Amino acid sequence: MPRKLSSATIRTQVTMPLRFADGFSTTARVFTFNGLADGLEHVAFGLGDRSGVFTPDAHPGPPPLVRPHSECLTGDVFGSQRCDCGAQLREAVELIAEAGGYLLYLRQEGRGIGLYAKVDAYALQDEGLDTYDANLALGYAADQRDYTVAAQMVRALGLTRVALLSNNPDKAAQLSRLGVAITDQVPTGVHLSATNAGYLATKAHRGAHTLDLPTLGQHAKWVIGGAGTLEGTVVP
Ligand SMILES: [Zn+2]
Repeated sequence: MPRKLSSATIRTQVTMPLRFADGFSTTARVFTFNGLADGLEHVAFGLGDRSGVFTPDAHPGPPPLVRPHSECLTGDVFGSQRCDCGAQLREAVELIAEAGGYLLYLRQEGRGIGLYAKVDAYALQDEGLDTYDANLALGYAADQRDYTVAAQMVRALGLTRVALLSNNPDKAAQLSRLGVAITDQVPTGVHLSATNAGYLATKAHRGAHTLDLPTLGQHAKWVIGGAGTLEGTVVP
């Protein structure tokens, strides 16, 4: 049974031209909301055929591509290579601009533990703990993220079904429980760097993410945000 969801409404919508550091540019329709469950300032970016003035039921075609992206100040804004958030965000904006859909930017930094605690967790990781154990050592769940506001935004935008852009089974499960009809789950690329390989491996092995991480000696291809793909054989 879907959980009961209080309703949110669109507060303001504006058009916003976007340009990323690598030169990629597109136009977004940015939405703010009233009535989101946690009172925080989450925003939705309508992209591609959703970047115009929003009218419910104006798009009878395939379901929009939707990605709930959890805020990561260090990765999204500063390009931190300790995680893959910046590359994921950049890739998602381009994919959604092509397909038509929404990026839901959720203000739950550091898997929901906040920026300072995330940096505390990084310090513990530097002492040898993985990202999940570091959160547990700080007294948090391994992943505290909650997608109630994402479901509220989907409903406020008038979407009855969505194609979900995500590798995270917990996002799909939570959104389904909240009554979002997911017609398709579209995987994101793997954004591998020398400094985030351990983090990605932990996500894949402990978070049950559907990341297809290569093993030693295997031929593999990675999507590098904005710069195309990288192909090669994995060496130690
Ligand atoms: Zn991050």
